[in-house]
Amino acid sequence: MTSPLYPVSTQAPLISVQGLRKSFGDHEVLKSIDLSVAHGEVVTIIGASGSGKSTLLRCLNLLESPDAGHVWFHGEDLMDPSTDVNRLREQIGMVFQSFNLFNNKDVLDNCTLAPLTLKLCSKEQAEATAMRRLEQVGLADFAHADVRRLSGGQKQRVAIARALCMNPEIMLFDEPTSALDPEIVGEVLEVMRQLAADGMTMVVVTHEMAFAKNVSDRVVFMDRGVIAEQGDPKQMFTNPQLPRTREFLSRYL
Ligand code: ADP
Ligand code: MG
Repeated sequence: MTSPLYPVSTQAPLISVQGLRKSFGDHEVLKSIDLSVAHGEVVTIIGASGSGKSTLLRCLNLLESPDAGHVWFHGEDLMDPSTDVNRLREQIGMVFQSFNLFNNKDVLDNCTLAPLTLKLCSKEQAEATAMRRLEQVGLADFAHADVRRLSGGQKQRVAIARALCMNPEIMLFDEPTSALDPEIVGEVLEVMRQLAADGMTMVVVTHEMAFAKNVSDRVVFMDRGVIAEQGDPKQMFTNPQLPRTREFLSRYL
């Protein structure tokens, strides 16, 4: 038997949305969004505040429930009532601007909480995984530190390690460095850059244009609830097609 030219997994997108709509009251925040992300792809989402970036990201794992459209993950429709959304959601890691760590637990316990609560492994296994992930983000020495004593950059790296402890297939980041002092943004971006280099599939909402340009495979520009333009980072940054993309990017020059 001849082997297939491409592994099956690279043919289908890992996650995709089609015709996604979401309103809050009479404000239509997402106006029929189509987006597919392939295995191993790093997609950055840029756009002005209020353009719908967070809502789109939150719809990808149904933290926000869409009004219409479809969200497929691994070929399963998350909007289908018969789909076990919780099981699929466990494979989607999410990192927020505000860390969302448990301040009354130490770093290691933050990392082992979800796998242990969901009874995915033994305590020993969860701790071994957590130590590996903390090492990956450069915080192995802080396993027993009090979360409250960490810097913002360290907290965000713990949040990334915690998400990785679930062995996710994809990581969603919502402005992970926006709450950080400028001098510590770099340490978080470096962890993300390494994660991308290791092949993690990532969707990153960010205002860090250097990251979008240098690390991502594709840049998606959102404007008032639609994907106005998307493409290869070099093309997007050197030769955007739409005046509104140019206008948005000019604010970062
Ligand atoms: P972005 O992340 O691009 O700044 P958001 O997706 O957070 O944009 O928000 C898009 C719009 O939707 C904004 O006008 C925001 O005020 C509104 N919005 C977001 N979440 C809610 C909510 N839970 N209830 C009401 N309005 C919301
Ligand atoms: Mg947002």
